[in-house]
Amino acid sequence: MKSKHPIHTSTPVLMSRLWRECIRAYAGKLFLALIFMGLMAGATALSAWLMKPVVNDIFIARNRDALWLIGFAILATFTLKGVSNYIQATLMAHVGMKIVAEMQNRLFGHMSGLDLGFFHNNATGTLLSRFTIDVTTMRVAVTHGITVFGKDLLSLIGLVAVMFVQDWELAFIAFFVFPLGIIPIAKIGRRMRKVTINTQVENGLFTTYLEQAFQGIRVVKSYGMEDYERGRIAELVQSLYELNFKALRTRALSSPIMETLGGVAVTSVIIYGGYRVIENATDPGGFFSFITALLLAYEPMKRLANVNATIQEGLAGAQRTFEALDKPNQIAEKDGALELKAPNGEVRLDNVSFKYASPDDEGNEENLILNNVSLTVPAGKTVALVGASGAGKSTIINLVPRFYEVDAGAVYIDDQDIRDVTFKSLRNAMALVSQEVMLFDDTVRNNIAYGRQDASFEDIQDAARNAAAHDFISELPDGYDTMVGEHGVRLSGGQRQRLAIARAMLKNSPILLLDEATSALDTESERQVQAALERLMETRTTLVIAHRLSTIVNADLIYVLDRGQVIEKGTHDELLAMGGQYANLHHLQPTNSLK
Ligand code: ADP
Repeated sequence: MKSKHPIHTSTPVLMSRLWRECIRAYAGKLFLALIFMGLMAGATALSAWLMKPVVNDIFIARNRDALWLIGFAILATFTLKGVSNYIQATLMAHVGMKIVAEMQNRLFGHMSGLDLGFFHNNATGTLLSRFTIDVTTMRVAVTHGITVFGKDLLSLIGLVAVMFVQDWELAFIAFFVFPLGIIPIAKIGRRMRKVTINTQVENGLFTTYLEQAFQGIRVVKSYGMEDYERGRIAELVQSLYELNFKALRTRALSSPIMETLGGVAVTSVIIYGGYRVIENATDPGGFFSFITALLLAYEPMKRLANVNATIQEGLAGAQRTFEALDKPNQIAEKDGALELKAPNGEVRLDNVSFKYASPDDEGNEENLILNNVSLTVPAGKTVALVGASGAGKSTIINLVPRFYEVDAGAVYIDDQDIRDVTFKSLRNAMALVSQEVMLFDDTVRNNIAYGRQDASFEDIQDAARNAAAHDFISELPDGYDTMVGEHGVRLSGGQRQRLAIARAMLKNSPILLLDEATSALDTESERQVQAALERLMETRTTLVIAHRLSTIVNADLIYVLDRGQVIEKGTHDELLAMGGQYANLHHLQPTNSLK
């Protein structure tokens, strides 16, 4: 199922995709921004040009009338420049933020629809960095790129025009030197892009490690692994530091190159221009206007030289963002998928074979996790899966909601192939209660109502009562409105499990997929959780990964799995009488658990 997508990394391809998918929608606003950038550039050129009358009329001719007129003209020019700058900057900021917001929504929209395999093959930190770092560098590249090409390039054109008007011979001399600077700067741009890609990979790793270290802090501490974690983080910090430093050094290199070239240009112009004024070939006003234009041209010139680096950084971000957006969904809904009808909720696996696609696995047939498994959970009955750890029990549970796709055979619910129905109706028909209870950092009430946002408070309370959770919830500081903390840290293990059961109660689906918790609770919690589970299973078709002996004994049918195959099936008594694997397991661990 693995597809190799060709990734287009060339600058023009990325640029045109950026234009089509991010920028084009804002063409109107950008055009307006460009107009104001043009005004600003015009005002800049005008301010340089005004130096000529300032020197010639005010300082040399000592013309009193010109003093006020020119003063006013200068004030007007600077006001125009300031106002235009404000308007274009606001417009650009607006467009930039919109692009970020839209990309973040598109990314989450796409990713949340992808199959579970995608999330198992990509670390969380790496995924997070798409939303933060990558979209931000994209925004900076787009807005900065456009601003530089609009504002700075236009200013430069205006200023160059002023220079040519004032003294074209001098202008030629100045511009003979600058283009030489372009060659090293183009090289810097390419290096920038490479360094940035590496930095972002490391950044993703960094977030992932930090997240794991914080989430697993209890394990870290209890195994005395603080120093080890410090070492791992320190290593990453070091390599991030080196990469970032390299990026900044590369970027900084373009400044001194420009600085030196600028110095050479200004010196030559002053010497040659001064000579021409002394020789009376030009007037001092023209010369000062020229020098002003030259000096004003320096900043835009520098930004133009640097813009390539920023754009390359942004393209690296864009490349990663587009790659994420192009990730194909390995499990897609069929065109014209039907609504699942599950009046009874019979679940049937028919000769199912399955293996996980891993990033470096090229379809090795020997890695079959499930091999020709056939299994039926009759409507309203409870079927227990038993077998050694790694036998494939969780995998079977994951195939029923179609979290993964079977490689051979089929899964049926009330005789409908689950590949023919919509995800929504399929998943609506089942509730999943797993060992690791997933609670969101929200109120108890919202955690129970997850998936049934429309549920009334009475329904939520009923579900909690049935899950033996109402009493403890009522004793919480804010009752049903108590915040449970990240992953429910403010609740005990048994309380978390009962909330998960209440959630499934409220969902009230005909099929229940249950992965019994292995971690032992204290006897009282255990009893309550058990009672709640029994009530939940009562009326539903239940497929349970059973660890408790009581669950197994009470099951209507037991399937014993070994290395992806069903080796025995029957009731507890039948299996014991058979004297096979199950009987062995049972005799080994007769008291409480079969794992
Ligand atoms: P059980 O629930 O019986 O303990 P599982 O169904 O979890 O067993 O696992 C069966 C096999 O599949 C194991 O060998 C495990 O290593 C492998 N496996 C489980 N999940 C994944 C996954 N996401 N990617 C690759 N292999 C997996």
